[in-house]
Amino acid sequence: MLEINLKDKVALVTGASRGIGKAIAIALARAGAKVAIGYNINKAAAAETAKECGPQSLVVQGNVARPAECKRILETVLTSSNKIDILVNNAGIAEKDSVGMDYRAWVNHWQRTLDTNFLSAVHMSYLCLQPMLRQQGGKIINVSSRSAFRGETEYLAYAASKAAMVNFTRCLARTFATRNILAYAVAPGFIETDMAVEDLERYGEEIRAQIPSGKVGLPGDVANVVLFLASDLSNYITGSTIDVNGGSYLH
Ligand code: NDP
Repeated sequence: MLEINLKDKVALVTGASRGIGKAIAIALARAGAKVAIGYNINKAAAAETAKECGPQSLVVQGNVARPAECKRILETVLTSSNKIDILVNNAGIAEKDSVGMDYRAWVNHWQRTLDTNFLSAVHMSYLCLQPMLRQQGGKIINVSSRSAFRGETEYLAYAASKAAMVNFTRCLARTFATRNILAYAVAPGFIETDMAVEDLERYGEEIRAQIPSGKVGLPGDVANVVLFLASDLSNYITGSTIDVNGGSYLH
């Protein structure tokens, strides 16, 4: 049996207080990594994740929509561990939008969504690239979404932010492959978390009908793929996006 061993690796997972990020942090920690658990507001939830990740984990507060806070997050990790091997850009928000919105609300919403979902990943990657280049290696894993490919009718900014993430991943991969820095995206379909709960409650039947197995994904389904990407098993892959959507959207 293949065993994934991340002993001596340091990982930062943004948005690890809840949902998919929490499952990713736990999976990486169980494989031996020292995991920094990023969160914005939910301190108690982040502490719960840390309990499951074990005593070598670290909890780091910071709003990733703010470039200065991204910098502080990474500095905290480097102060504690002196290196960073794996960055998982997972923190995100999903807000509905429509052209019926007030213009000011529309502008603010697009800015907030791109800052939180996309530019956060850009800035965190920039910051991590410096130590990764010195260390001569690293892995950057971006949590995108099925909506990056399918397009959305009620989450335009969200879908666009996730599509940008996919292309940024490709740019990182092609730029840094020669320096042993590999980049990946994962594109989950509906996953049972706080983010999806409202849509699952309202449109559950319709959503399940799009999935051949009829089963909505669980955070662990995404975490398993991220674990593979974080490990040496995926070292000949870079720039790819892996769909984790139960076959609900193939492209
Ligand atoms: P949740 O809403 O359950 O959790 C979001 C996480 O992101 C929390 O840990 C939250 O921290 C953190 N976060 C949000 N905003 C910020 C911020 N400004 N700064 C720092 N941290 C922040 O989301 P999911 O687990 O469902 O989603 C995780 C990722 O997966 C997202 O990028 C999402 O777009 C993507 N995804 C999710 C899908 C789904 O169906 N659930 C489908 C496709 C993609 P705090 O607890 O402190 O608020």
